[in-house]
Amino acid sequence: MDPPALPADPARLRRRLLLWYDANRRDLPWRAPPGGRADPYAVLVSEVMLQQTTVATVRPRFLAFVRRFPTLEALADAPLDDVLHEWQGLGYYRRARALHGLARTVRDGGGALPATVAGLEALPGVGPYTAAAIAAMAFGVPTVPVDGNVARVLARLARVETPLPAAWPVLRRLAADLAGAGAGEGAGDGRWGDLAQAAIELGALVCRPAPACGGCPWREVCEARAAGVEAALPRKAARAAKPRRYAVAFLVRRDDGALLLRRRPETGLLAGLVELPTTPWQEGPFRDEGAILAGAPEALDLRPLPGEVRHGFTHLDLTLGLWTGAGHEAGDGFFWRQDRLGELALPTLTRKLLRLGGITPGARP
Ligand code: SF4
Repeated sequence: MDPPALPADPARLRRRLLLWYDANRRDLPWRAPPGGRADPYAVLVSEVMLQQTTVATVRPRFLAFVRRFPTLEALADAPLDDVLHEWQGLGYYRRARALHGLARTVRDGGGALPATVAGLEALPGVGPYTAAAIAAMAFGVPTVPVDGNVARVLARLARVETPLPAAWPVLRRLAADLAGAGAGEGAGDGRWGDLAQAAIELGALVCRPAPACGGCPWREVCEARAAGVEAALPRKAARAAKPRRYAVAFLVRRDDGALLLRRRPETGLLAGLVELPTTPWQEGPFRDEGAILAGAPEALDLRPLPGEVRHGFTHLDLTLGLWTGAGHEAGDGFFWRQDRLGELALPTLTRKLLRLGGITPGARP
């Protein structure tokens, strides 16, 4: 069987896609007007945010973020805690840390983001997708970034039957074919930024997991559609179930109502973020109180609260019980007033636990 290939001339595919994009594009705050160049910093921030959540969630968070850190330099100059705080609710804090570290690297190296895919990819924490997105959207480089949306579109357009993740090299080659063959003519006057946005937009609006082929500019040439297999593509290799870990968290109050918190280590999961103390995580549920109390901080009257918190990380799922008690020994943690919880960068997991304990951390004053 021949390797998958684009089902039509790339210039024709690009033209049809751009016509569709001009009629259907959403106005997004990081997006340039048609034919224009986006701000590289805005593209960087939005792409890092969009790696982990939806456009609807990102839109207000992006606006708040760039209001607080309007330039790469302002981001680099800000304390990490402020950046993590602004990131709350977006999850994957290591991306916020990486973004902050990247801003510092760029500032210390002269202050401007590189204008090439290779230059961008050489920066710490910038992968092939983000590099291609910034290069195309902000610098007009002829390249089509392949995220999950674009992978889905291309897998269907060229009917790629190889399952993901093995199909990624094929999909990147198809994206390069779409951007590269005949570059300079037929791309709508060099609208490479729009082409990248259009491919992403098609996956987000039309070629969704349940595709709406009737509104697709490529419906007449799409090979998956012709074969009636569009909804089954891209195929995915069977994934092993994520392991589950168990722990108990402790809501310890001092006489004045302050809560016992601790900061996680600077490396690893939720690095450097503030959390409630917990027992070590273990492979099975806790069977006896002794093991829970052995992992508890100094406290009196420790007792379990009804309910539990479930939280999914990329590579594991966690189930936590919550015990409450009274104490004044901080140990390796610290006591913090409840009315000032909003000042801390609290991961979603900690917020869920606080809510189970009847506490809603307020917003930053
Ligand atoms: S025709 Fe359907 S399956 Fe093919 S690219 Fe368009 S929306 Fe996707």
